[in-house]
Amino acid sequence: METLPFINPATGEKFGEAQAATAEDVTRAIKDMRQAFQVWRRRPLKDRIVALRQLQEVIIDSLDEITAVLNQDTGKSRQDGLIEVMMTVDRLHQYYRHAPDWLQRRRVPPGLYVFKSYYKEPHPYGVVAVIGPWNYPFDLTMPIVCSALLAGNTVVLKPSEVTAATGVLVENLIKRVPELSPFVRVLHGGPAVGAAVVQGNPDLVFLTGSTATGRKIAKATAETMTPFIAELGGKDPMIVLENADVAAAAKWGAWGAFYNTGQTCMGIERVYVVEAVYDEFLRQVVAEAEQVRQGYAVDIHNENNMGPLTFERQLQIVQEQLEDALAKGARIVYGGKIDGLFVEPTIIVDVTHDMKLMQEETFGPIMPVMKVKDETEALWLANDSVYGLSASVWSNNMRQAKRVAHRLDVGSVNVNDAISHYPVSLLPFGGVKQSGNARTHGKEEVLQFTQLRSYAIGRPPLPFDLATQMREPNHYKLGAAIMRLSFGVTLQQRLQPIKEALADKELRPEIGRMARLAGVATAVIAFAVALFRAKK
Ligand code: NAD
Repeated sequence: METLPFINPATGEKFGEAQAATAEDVTRAIKDMRQAFQVWRRRPLKDRIVALRQLQEVIIDSLDEITAVLNQDTGKSRQDGLIEVMMTVDRLHQYYRHAPDWLQRRRVPPGLYVFKSYYKEPHPYGVVAVIGPWNYPFDLTMPIVCSALLAGNTVVLKPSEVTAATGVLVENLIKRVPELSPFVRVLHGGPAVGAAVVQGNPDLVFLTGSTATGRKIAKATAETMTPFIAELGGKDPMIVLENADVAAAAKWGAWGAFYNTGQTCMGIERVYVVEAVYDEFLRQVVAEAEQVRQGYAVDIHNENNMGPLTFERQLQIVQEQLEDALAKGARIVYGGKIDGLFVEPTIIVDVTHDMKLMQEETFGPIMPVMKVKDETEALWLANDSVYGLSASVWSNNMRQAKRVAHRLDVGSVNVNDAISHYPVSLLPFGGVKQSGNARTHGKEEVLQFTQLRSYAIGRPPLPFDLATQMREPNHYKLGAAIMRLSFGVTLQQRLQPIKEALADKELRPEIGRMARLAGVATAVIAFAVALFRAKK
């Protein structure tokens, strides 16, 4: 049986291992979760929320345990681990408060079809397969699992093999809530286990991962028409305009590029600075990079603010992109040194869009900075990407900042900051173009785990019901007249049936009949309304 080693990227030490799931485990898990779905979907929402709040309580009580595992598993500081937990519980807290509103049945206006009542209601899909990444292995799995459960689904979770210790931790936390654990199954393993989960015919697949993996799953799910939603890679641009607070742009831009060692899907991956402030920005951003303290500490009182890359594959990508850029004429103005998985925060200039560094996702602490003539050139270059996750715009002229923000082909724009839009729990987050089609955060996150169903409720059709009249043969003229009267755009269009009726002998009896029916209908409606009011 395959095992997944837990490796601390800062020290290279192995600190445990997990058993990978077998093909039989995958089949059984999906079968079990399909049965469990019949129980969970019938639980009233308030009971589901009670169970999920117990998990929220367990997470808060287990804070030190979680940050310790994240620290060993990814090399990030305990404080950065705390940020993951904080973002998770903030989201869960908001979702549980708002879910009764988001998930409730809603009446739909009847339009012309007044003799029935109509409503729509979000229903769960069934078994949701959640496939997670390693860069924020807690925050990018736990809230997704909880949202799917909140909506009434059961879940099969396949956490990343790179951070398998966090996957085991997530499994253990869920097991501590007996009310919840029968409705989630965690399957550990690498891409093969993920592929088997997708092939196992779940009712919905949710991936957070690379665009390359998204493409593979899109192909696999197309065969079975399984719905597939994905949060994928990014190449987020930052634009610094002439009216920017350059010191703030340098400080928070550097933070956005180097936070989590650059392994953040909406981290700053490319910077475009207008020529008027380019030299000043470069001077200040280098000064900011000099302040970054690299290192690893187990203690919560650590002095470092940047750890190692999380695993070897990331190092290879960073090295390959740097070599390609340098060979094509780029210049490192700060950093560039590599020691094990520790990569210095690196600022690189003279970059062009034919370099991999400006086109492909890097996911490392590398900040390429490019001088541009003006806002127009910055926008053109920022949009010259297959990705479209987030972007950052810097200007103290809010009209200009908003104008640029609205012309960026991305899912979210942050004006005068970086990354900080992500922790806002009710602000939808997700990509356009090849950055994916999912939305996390808020109502949109929870509702994407539901399918909207519609209901038309009433007694058998009445003779004067429009739906009955339109089904009768020889009612073409009548139907056309009703359409014009009801939906005519101009007064002339609306009045046309009346004019035609007055001129058309054939139509007169029909109009008379409709007028009588309308009279009866009005009386029935008036009686029904009076009865309803009397009952109230
Ligand atoms: P990855 O694509 O390598 O792996 C993601 C998950 O998919 C892992 O669990 C992996 O085992 C699984 N997987 C791989 N191949 C599979 C297959 N054929 N079928 C089913 N499952 C398969 O991504 P990663 O390296 O773990 O994560 C980093 C990537 O995720 C980056 O591209 C990053 O931008 C992206 N990401 C996006 C967001 C977002 O919200 N848009 C957030 C975080 C990370």
